[in-house]
Amino acid sequence: MGRGRRSQHTRPAVPTRRCLCCRAVRPQTELLRITAVEGAAVLDTGRKLGGRGAWLCRAEKCAKDASKGAKVSRALKGQAKEPQLERLLGWVKEVQGAIVATGPSLDGREHEG
Ligand SMILES: [Zn+2]
Repeated sequence: MGRGRRSQHTRPAVPTRRCLCCRAVRPQTELLRITAVEGAAVLDTGRKLGGRGAWLCRAEKCAKDASKGAKVSRALKGQAKEPQLERLLGWVKEVQGAIVATGPSLDGREHEG
């Protein structure tokens, strides 16, 4: 008795990553992934791009702080130039919009009006 810890309930559903800016550890789903492609930092929405990735909170504050300190570039080990703040903010908005866009809309009805 007391042995046999076979429960899988303790396994975390989502792996966690550390924000390159504020160093907070969050589930991947709450961060956006940035990766270096041919010297440029790009948003990796589907986590399909390989290579070194950096993770950033989906928050304007982290985007701004990261841009100020060129932290994205540093997190990517200089493999990409620091993206412009506008770009970072655009990515934050993009992923936030993506969450909203996946609302329940499977009934197939056309909207009236
Ligand atoms: Zn952060």
